[in-house]
Amino acid sequence: MQVTKNRNPNMNQNMRMTRQRRVILEELKKLDSHPNAEEIYEAVRESLPRISLGTVYRNLEVLSELGKIQKLEMGGTQKRFDWDTRKHYHIRCINCDRVDNAPLGFMKNVEQALYGATDFTITDHRLEFLGLCPLCMEKAIERDSLGKTAGKVA
Ligand SMILES: [Zn+2]
Ligand SMILES: [Zn+2]
Repeated sequence: MQVTKNRNPNMNQNMRMTRQRRVILEELKKLDSHPNAEEIYEAVRESLPRISLGTVYRNLEVLSELGKIQKLEMGGTQKRFDWDTRKHYHIRCINCDRVDNAPLGFMKNVEQALYGATDFTITDHRLEFLGLCPLCMEKAIERDSLGKTAGKVA
């Protein structure tokens, strides 16, 4: 019994909302996008000039364990963070990696639809939409029209 109790005596100490964590959370809310750790680090440095990227990263992990933020597991190269902890879907630009919320309600019923169809007990699901953001779409159209003009000339 005692072993279980004392397994992690520093747990409360490590898991509390420190000033650093409060600043990180505030900056994440201000960014209102889905920034990666480096982007959050750049924003946080204005209030905490001596903080390191490693510290920001560790604090983001703790905040996510505390359920204060959401760590996004999605395609793309870098881990991103979301101040909105409600379940929601995202849409990602395949060209520049911009991530927006997808304006679509969370579909719990797709999990029910799988009930009995597999041996698994479904506990959660992830859905990520991919596309081109308006800026990248514009560039693609520009490139396309240039290509066509060049084609006609040739
Ligand atoms: Zn884009
Ligand atoms: Zn989001």
